[in-house]
Amino acid sequence: MEERDRPICPKCGYDQTGEVATWGTQCPTRGICTECGLVFNWSYVMRPELGQVAWYVEHARGLRSFVWRSLRTPFHLILPHRFWKQLDPAKPVSIVRLVLWVILALFIVHTLVAIPNGYNAWIRSSWNWSRVTFQQYQQMHGNYAYAEMLFDGYFYPYLDAIPRPWSQQSSHKWTLDIRRGWHFRVGHSHSPHIVSAGMLLLWSIVLLAIPHTRRLSKLRARHVVRAIILSIFMIAMSYELTHLIRTMYELDWIPRAAFPVLDGLPVMFCWVWLLVFWGCAVHLGWFIRPSRLLIALGTIASILGGTTLSVYIFIITTS
Ligand SMILES: [Zn+2]
Repeated sequence: MEERDRPICPKCGYDQTGEVATWGTQCPTRGICTECGLVFNWSYVMRPELGQVAWYVEHARGLRSFVWRSLRTPFHLILPHRFWKQLDPAKPVSIVRLVLWVILALFIVHTLVAIPNGYNAWIRSSWNWSRVTFQQYQQMHGNYAYAEMLFDGYFYPYLDAIPRPWSQQSSHKWTLDIRRGWHFRVGHSHSPHIVSAGMLLLWSIVLLAIPHTRRLSKLRARHVVRAIILSIFMIAMSYELTHLIRTMYELDWIPRAAFPVLDGLPVMFCWVWLLVFWGCAVHLGWFIRPSRLLIALGTIASILGGTTLSVYIFIITTS
C-alpha cells in the first residue's frame, strides 16, 4: 500500500492497518488510536479531504476560496482557543500551501507598510532638508526618485538608497547608491521581537528536539511545523505593525502622547498570543493528555528562552 493510502492515526501517525484488518462485514464509524489515545472518525482517516475547515486558508480550493480564506484566517488566529478547537489533528495539514500563503501574505502586508515608510524615508533624507517638493526632486533625479522611494519603502531603516551621479565628471549618468540605514541598530529597537523569536524557538525545541517531551506529546512533526509557521506569521505581523506605528509617529500622523502606549502594544500582544496559542495547541488542538505539565514546561522554557536570546543578541551587538 502507498504511504498516503495507508490508514494512519492523524495525530501520531500510528499505522491502523492492523485495526482495519479485524473488520469483518461492517466497519465502525469511530475508532481510538492504541498508541496516542486519540478518538477519531474513520471517515476522516480514510478520506482526509472530508475534514476541511470552511474558513482556513490551508484547505482552500481555487483562487476565490483562497482569497476569501486569506482574509478570514488571521481573524481566527487572533483567538487561539477558537482556532485550535476547529483544527483538531484529524483536519488535513498542507505545509507547502501554508508556507506559500505566509510568504504571499507577508509580502502584501510589507508592501502596504512600504508606502508610508518610503514617504517617511524621503522626508527624512538629507535631500529634503532644503524643502524641495517631490515634483522638483523628480525633475532633479528622473526615475531614480521613484526607484529611491520604492527601495526605501521596502528596506528603510535597514538600507537607504540615494540617487547619485555615476562619476564626478559626468552628471548625466545616475545610479542608486545603496548604503546601510543611518539610524539602524539591531539590539536597540529589535529586542522585543527577538524575545518573540526566542519564545517560539523554545516551544519548537520542547516539542521537536527533546526526546522525552517529544515522546510524551506523541505528535506527528507536521502538526508542530504548522504551529511554528503560524507563529512566524504572527511575529512578523507584530513587527510590521510596530514598524507602521513608528513610521506614522515620525510622520506626525498619530498623536505624540499616544505613541509610548501604541509602540509596545503589538509586540506585547504577540508575547501573550504566543503563550496562549501554544498552550491551546497542546490542550485543545492536539489533545495531549496530561497537558498541564507540558504546557507549564513549554511556557516557562519559552519565557526564559525569549529573554535569554534577547539579552544574548544585545550583548553581541553592543560589544
Ligand atoms: Zn495516534
